[in-house]
Amino acid sequence: MATTSLSQLLEELHAHGAKLVAVSKTHGEEAIMGLYRQGQRAFGENWVQELVEKQPKLPADIEWHFIGHLQTNKVKYIASFVHMIHSVDSLKLLQEIDKQAAKHNRVIPCLLECRIAQEETKFGLTLADAGAILSDPALAQLKHVQIAGVMGMASFTEDTAQVKKEFEQLKAMFDTLKQSFFAQDDRFCEISMGMSGDYRIALEVGTTLVRIGSLLFGPRE
Ligand SMILES: *Cc1c(COP(=O)(O)O)cnc(C)c1O
Repeated sequence: MATTSLSQLLEELHAHGAKLVAVSKTHGEEAIMGLYRQGQRAFGENWVQELVEKQPKLPADIEWHFIGHLQTNKVKYIASFVHMIHSVDSLKLLQEIDKQAAKHNRVIPCLLECRIAQEETKFGLTLADAGAILSDPALAQLKHVQIAGVMGMASFTEDTAQVKKEFEQLKAMFDTLKQSFFAQDDRFCEISMGMSGDYRIALEVGTTLVRIGSLLFGPRE
């Protein structure tokens, strides 16, 4: 896949009102600074250890998005600085994020990772699972997390009709949850969907945050 320029990509995203998370996993400080100097501030990482190593070496105004599967025992390493966690898939994880965020006097925006792909290996909540978390009285106790929307990954397939169907499913889940739980709350506003190979389909369907790595940075090792 050929890489594209940041400005060209941003122009395309902005035409659809979507924001960019530049997924920098496996890429070094030099590559990240290349985009930073062009004005990019939101970067995404998948692994706690890699993020914790990079973060102190890079400018403090970078907004770090955690997009990988997050184990509860690792939350403490990123709670002091992480800007948003895209991959929340349990109430237990939310409770741990709340506990660690409280230690730093922070409120961490979190997205509910929803399962839309056919693939068995992908993580994520069903609509019923998400509804159960949002209606659990224990959630109301959490003052240091804020549910800001949903995230999903489509199947890895050439079948664009299938990918579109999955993104539409995530959009429908967002709309249902918004109506049921956040009708009066503008902070529930993000649909994180679309990667290098499928972001144009996500733009058509109404993504607000795309997570793009290889299209900007080139292939990963
Ligand atoms: C790696 C990754 C991306 C970016 O993938 P590209 O195909 O390189 O754009 C987006 N989202 C998640 C969750 C990822 O793990």
